Amino acid sequence: MRVDLHMHSTASDGTSPPAALAEECRAAGLTHAILTDHDTAAGVAAFCAACATAGVRAISGVEFNCVYDGELHILGYGFDPAHPALARCLAEMAEERARRTGRMVANLNAAGIGVSLERVAEIAGSGVMGRPHIAQALIELHLAADIPEAFAKYLNRGCVGYSHREKLPSREAISLTRAAGGRCVLAHPLLTHDADLPGLIRRLAKEGIEGIEAYYPLHSDADAAFFLKQARELGLFVTAGSDYHGAGRHGTYLGKEARMSLELEAGVRLLFGEEGAV
Ligand code: AMP
Ligand code: ZN
Ligand code: FE
Ligand code: FE
Repeated sequence: MRVDLHMHSTASDGTSPPAALAEECRAAGLTHAILTDHDTAAGVAAFCAACATAGVRAISGVEFNCVYDGELHILGYGFDPAHPALARCLAEMAEERARRTGRMVANLNAAGIGVSLERVAEIAGSGVMGRPHIAQALIELHLAADIPEAFAKYLNRGCVGYSHREKLPSREAISLTRAAGGRCVLAHPLLTHDADLPGLIRRLAKEGIEGIEAYYPLHSDADAAFFLKQARELGLFVTAGSDYHGAGRHGTYLGKEARMSLELEAGVRLLFGEEGAV
């Protein structure tokens, strides 16, 4: 088993189209893969179809950016993308992302930074819009050297370009995913920067998450062991993901998160409906 349960495509802010990403999964030797674009499942059908052809097991996935003072990301897995309430919610999130991009470009323009909304929309293509697309446009104008610099100078909260975006409460993301037949997992828990991680995990478990992404490139072995212990105490499963965004982004790559354990294997079997199989 070689798994990567967290990656992005051009349907959000990744650089590989879903079908090409499936081929990259095969080339990376993955046996199980899940596409988890930000607030959209638009790439899931193409990704799963291409995975089937490539001999990689795949199920549906999404990464919800939830309401929180900081970053709280919830992964939804194995849901029906056509479920009406979930599909409606994701469509609304995409619209809000587009409106927010307009507000941010207007802020930048008002500050004399001549980034064009047309160019940002072109960069986003058919994918849902995000700040990384504005960052790319700023890089093209030589106003930033790379994406982290664009965020630090223009796009982070407190910067001239920033505009708030309406996000989904975690409780709602979880109940919608479950109503659509899926399961939820807390993504990269360390990146929440919560001072009371056990408290946060307990709250989310009450709201209905069933797993924790214990294995993530930024998690040390000690971090992973800590999240495994939290999972064991609360009866949650554990998962692993690289958060791949395409070539040359975020310093990660497909399958970068290669740590394995019996607990992870059990989590994957549960998610993919392979219980009992070896
Ligand atoms: P948005 O979804 O539009 O709020 O943009 C947030 C996304 O941008 C995150 O999910 C990351 O994928 C990416 N991102 C956020 N901060 C940075 C950063 N400092 N450098 C690179 N990418 C970032
Ligand atoms: Zn992203
Ligand atoms: Fe995330
Ligand atoms: Fe992600």
